[in-house]
Amino acid sequence: MDTKGIDTSITYEYSEYPDVKAGRCDNCGHTLFKSSVGKGNFLRECRNCGMKKNI
Ligand SMILES: [Zn+2]
Repeated sequence: MDTKGIDTSITYEYSEYPDVKAGRCDNCGHTLFKSSVGKGNFLRECRNCGMKKNI
């Protein structure tokens, strides 16, 4: 898997880590995400590498 080595055990905040390329995973560039809503946040998880970000 070709990734940038981003820690996928952490949930990132979009306000602090905006998408490098809109709609693409910062870590691996994948475009498919698993989304869930919780605690007022919209959590986006990459289906490829598992990177998580609150949108
Ligand atoms: Zn990814």
